[in-house]
Amino acid sequence: MSANADNEVWTLAEFRGAAPHGVSFELLAWGRDIADAKRASLASVAIGSEIDGEEINKLFAYGADKVYVIDEPELAEFRADSYKKALEGLTRRYAPDIFIAAATTRGRTIMSTLYAAIGAGLTADCTGLGIEPATGLLIQTRPAIGGNVMAEIKTPVSKPQMCTVRPKSKRPLTPDAARRGEVVRYKPSSDMLTSVIEFLSFEKEASGGLPIQDAEVIVAGGKGMKGAKNFELLSELAYLLGGAVGASRMAVDLGWAPYSSQVGLSGKSVTPRLYVACGISGAVQHIAGMSGAGKVAAINSDPEAPIFSAADMGIVGDVLDVLPKLIAAIKSAR
Ligand SMILES: Cc1cc2nc3c(=O)[nH]c(=O)nc-3n(C[C@H](O)[C@H](O)[C@H](O)COP(=O)(O)OP(=O)(O)OC[C@H]3O[C@@H](n4cnc5c(N)ncnc54)[C@H](O)[C@@H]3O)c2cc1C
Repeated sequence: MSANADNEVWTLAEFRGAAPHGVSFELLAWGRDIADAKRASLASVAIGSEIDGEEINKLFAYGADKVYVIDEPELAEFRADSYKKALEGLTRRYAPDIFIAAATTRGRTIMSTLYAAIGAGLTADCTGLGIEPATGLLIQTRPAIGGNVMAEIKTPVSKPQMCTVRPKSKRPLTPDAARRGEVVRYKPSSDMLTSVIEFLSFEKEASGGLPIQDAEVIVAGGKGMKGAKNFELLSELAYLLGGAVGASRMAVDLGWAPYSSQVGLSGKSVTPRLYVACGISGAVQHIAGMSGAGKVAAINSDPEAPIFSAADMGIVGDVLDVLPKLIAAIKSAR
């Protein structure tokens, strides 16, 4: 039944129209690490309609050795049932060792039905992946017991080992435009392309300002900011640095910032170049969302605050005293 992909690592590329969503490149960075550790080949799975050849080349540039393409007019819009059936056909045909998707709405929807159809295991919402040297098994790290422990999960019995990974938990690799690989086209049966779902329309969510998950600089505030009014200082600093304002869950729960700005386990994972944590203690659930930041600066009045262990630079002081001085210094330097 299966062809010879038993030592392949697959990542799912999310095509929205002709081009892959950015999370597809983050998955390739995870996949490259895993495939190299296993001395396996890395394949990206592109599913959709009218997939552009240049966009397939981007998947090679970002680390894929091979791209499986399922390109059918019936797959122009995302329908959970036909996508699952087509991917099930592909997975059964080539039998990869590992299959990774993003923990996005689409990735979660597909993987939660695909693993059941195949009879494999699935670890959802991983924040880290690795390979166990002795066995070559996938180690899937994810928060458990209300986020109080980080569990390491293996699925040794069934194949493929399947998981979803949080978006923004890894930066994409630097693309190499000269990289090329093999393209394998898979033709699903007509039965696989049928759907009971009627597509009505796609409505984009209205948003205000730069989303934190896209920001290169995040200035985030916690309970130490002492009130919603003081978040204006964070907005001013974020504006000067060309960034966005983030928040701890405590600040969100207190109504000082919207949930869309919450960083952490029950909020968003972010990977900015610079993360400035202001009056944030550095609870493990907060760190889980910002540990992928390039550099971390922390301002906290408590020299023992755990955030300093995660920071590259720190200022011990009253954030309401430090921030106005920092803002004034940046303004005068310009
Ligand atoms: C299942 C679960 C999921 C969770 N998910 C998240 C999540 O997604 N994101 C998240 O952030 N948390 C999350 N939490 C909550 C987390 O455990 C912490 O309670 C929260 O992060 C604390 O927020 P904080 O740092 O703003 O507040 P605190 O822990 O109260 O820290 C406030 C900090 O401000 C400092 N401070 C006080 N006054 C000043 C001042 N004038 N100047 C400078 N510093 C000052 C204090 O020294 C202290 O370090 C979760 C918890 C659970 C159980």
